[in-house]
Amino acid sequence: MKRFALAGNPNCGKTTLFNSLTGSTAHVGNWPGVTVDKKEGVYKKCAEPISIVDLPGIYSLSPYTPEEVISRNYILDEKPDCIINIIDATNLERNLYLTTQIMEIDVPMVIALNMMDAVEKIGDRIDAKKLEEKIGLPVVGISALKENGLDELMERAYEVSGSPRQGATVLAGTQLMHLVGDCRIALEGQKVENTLFHAIKLVELDEIEVAMHPESAKMVEEFKKTFEDDIFGSDFEALVADSRYKYISQNYSTVIEKSKAAEKSKMSRSDKADRVLTHKVWGIPIFLVILFAIFHLTFSENFLFIGGALPEDWVSLAGTAAEGLFGEGGINSPGVFLQSLLGLGTDSLTDAIRGAMERGAVADWATGFVCDGILGGLFAVLSFLPQILLLFLFFSILEDSGYMARVAFILDRIFRKFGLSGRAFMPMIMGFGCSIPAMINTRTLADQNERTATVRVIPFFSCGAKLPILTAIAGGILSIAKISNADVITYGMYVLGVVVAICAILLMRNTTMKGDVPPFIMELPAYHAPQFKNLMLHLWDKLKHFIKKAFTIILVSTILIWFFSHFSWSWSYLPDEEMNNSILANIGQLIQPLFTPLGFGSQLGKWGWVFAVAAITGLIAKENVIATFGTLAACAVAGFVADDALEGVDAIEALIGATGVGVPALIAFIAFNMLTIPCFAAVATAKAELPSKKSFRWTIAFWIATSYIVGTMIYLIGEWWWTVFIILAIWAAAITLIVLDKKGKIDVKGFFDKLKIKRKKA
Ligand code: GDP
Ligand code: MG
Repeated sequence: MKRFALAGNPNCGKTTLFNSLTGSTAHVGNWPGVTVDKKEGVYKKCAEPISIVDLPGIYSLSPYTPEEVISRNYILDEKPDCIINIIDATNLERNLYLTTQIMEIDVPMVIALNMMDAVEKIGDRIDAKKLEEKIGLPVVGISALKENGLDELMERAYEVSGSPRQGATVLAGTQLMHLVGDCRIALEGQKVENTLFHAIKLVELDEIEVAMHPESAKMVEEFKKTFEDDIFGSDFEALVADSRYKYISQNYSTVIEKSKAAEKSKMSRSDKADRVLTHKVWGIPIFLVILFAIFHLTFSENFLFIGGALPEDWVSLAGTAAEGLFGEGGINSPGVFLQSLLGLGTDSLTDAIRGAMERGAVADWATGFVCDGILGGLFAVLSFLPQILLLFLFFSILEDSGYMARVAFILDRIFRKFGLSGRAFMPMIMGFGCSIPAMINTRTLADQNERTATVRVIPFFSCGAKLPILTAIAGGILSIAKISNADVITYGMYVLGVVVAICAILLMRNTTMKGDVPPFIMELPAYHAPQFKNLMLHLWDKLKHFIKKAFTIILVSTILIWFFSHFSWSWSYLPDEEMNNSILANIGQLIQPLFTPLGFGSQLGKWGWVFAVAAITGLIAKENVIATFGTLAACAVAGFVADDALEGVDAIEALIGATGVGVPALIAFIAFNMLTIPCFAAVATAKAELPSKKSFRWTIAFWIATSYIVGTMIYLIGEWWWTVFIILAIWAAAITLIVLDKKGKIDVKGFFDKLKIKRKKA
């Protein structure tokens, strides 16, 4: 099968084109560096099927970033049948810089002038024909997003893919061309392929090239001694880069006809927005407010805080099923409304099945198994799907509009001082979706210690699977504390995760994970209206993932939980009322004391073991925490509450109430689950992405320690406020030690080494 590779600058629309060509749903984001690894798909509309490879975005073919190395090696070693060089037409000259490098390689190539829709909208005009004549390569104007011009692009790519192409360079007239020629001859003698490309890289004294051809590199070094340019001295790399840019601006500026008025107004509008959104002082508060608005829309049962202003019975729905939909006391936010709507559906489905089974005289245990065990757990998790999707819709909007890239930019400015680059924040923000792609994305971080530290804190950015924990437990808190601001709690927990991540990373970067902060040059992507198609792709991806998990891991887990909670060690069946004597309860009671410092351990009543069990099942998949609560609550309701009719989230709240747990312990429980070892899949990814087994083991220890310490702190302070002084004192002491060690006043590591030696002697 023929292979075409997509190469271009970050954020020029490669992945959008890839998705349009292959029908895939790879992640498209309006910020640089989303695609870190190459992806493959198949295009079927040519005479034969063609494999399409999406390469990471790059600005040049120099080996400065992992992306550049991946893309360069792919083009040189795998020899695709054609390179489709995508150019963001709204940024023509800068994008052509990469083009002038790729065209030096002997590989068939076409240029896709992307975003032509945006160019037209601004009012500019680009003459593709003229560009084609000047550059000597086929040029096709397309819009990857609107799917315009794709057939023509692929046809032309298919045409040229049949015949070999000789590399060509725009450096032909420059002073260095002579040296390039000499290097070429030397390389040809060594039977090297792509001599033009390699010769130019040699002249630049490119690291990889020098290592490969040390003999020829010596020649360049010799030449250097006799060479002196007025501006660049003998820095050939800079000289080459400058020549490329000069050539581009001299030859291609005539291709584009700018609409002056539009240019100005657009620039100033986005500049104005940036002046506010990336403001030194207001940038972060604005972000926090936007984030809160999102949580309010998704989780609030007191929408717009007008609850108090409403008359007692503001709708005459009291007592009807619709009351739950629109709100009791306040108005439900769209998220809660959708959740209640789905809940109504799943509850009546459960009731219908239960009724049918009871009428059919099915054994009691079987009815319980199906309705409480399986459906109770599954529907408890499923009921949060609307809120998960809504939250992701909002996050996708922030991302696609270009705002999230600004957030990374704001944070970069601050955290650079503390040993962390804003580049690391992109994978972290991706962690709000799922830790797995986020951990993989850390490959773009050049400093290994920064990368390890980032992988460790990614799970603290609460992912979609943790959201049901937050929401359901927040529901428990509301019913105990008699308040109605679930959105404040979920928002607070998300922020807590971010704060812990930042503290942890500061701690690591100043102790065990020291390292330089590599320079981070981020280009802020253009603001644009979020694309409906992208948003729907994101949501569809999330939905698919969720459904797949629901009918595999979560289903199996609920069955096992039901089973072990309804059998005793002697394998006799236990009815719902006796669940407290089941195998599961015994195991839960056994590990329960571990959680005593966090408030949800031995101090709880009869049903307290549920928390311990949920925390453990959550290690497989985070949805399991609530699936466990759902299954056990559905079964247990008859065991301790009079109202047998409670279902779904209401039953969970009743179960939580019956354990006698307090509010601080519930918050500690959320924090523990949020910060502890993530799901199996994320752990496996971390293992693959971390540099060594040792660092992986430390990572697991780090997760356990962080969740335990933060959980304990929350519980202690929440329960006995004055413990805050003790905790602050301990932290102050620890930080003083670190600072003193850093200044060289004391030597902590040396102290521990001495201890070790002493122990060995003894
Ligand atoms: P990549 O980094 O090169 O893979 O770029 P993406 O495919 O992730 O796209 C970056 C951004 O450009 C996204 O916000 C896309 O919606 C947007 N985009 C991509 N192609 C087009 C296009 O043809 N027209 C417009 N207006 N926007 C596009
Ligand atoms: Mg991409």
